[in-house]
Amino acid sequence: MTGHGYRVEINRETCISSGRCVGDAPGAFVFDDDELATVGDAVSELAETKLLRIARDCPGEAIIVYGADGVPLQLH
Ligand code: SF4
Repeated sequence: MTGHGYRVEINRETCISSGRCVGDAPGAFVFDDDELATVGDAVSELAETKLLRIARDCPGEAIIVYGADGVPLQLH
């Protein structure tokens, strides 16, 4: 089994369009028409360690990862 059980959201208010997540995991993160990152279908296929690293490295701290209990992980 691949992937992880997390739910992922992007905070459009704090995404600074750095492109880091989109570059690191194309398909899992994609730019929308406003050049803000959104979550793509492939996010469920990302390895847990990679997802958490990308979320942690987001310069806008805009990637929110929810655990199975619905509580956001404290990544920062
Ligand atoms: S890494 Fe963060 S700030 Fe950069 S595009 Fe992705 S969500 Fe936006």
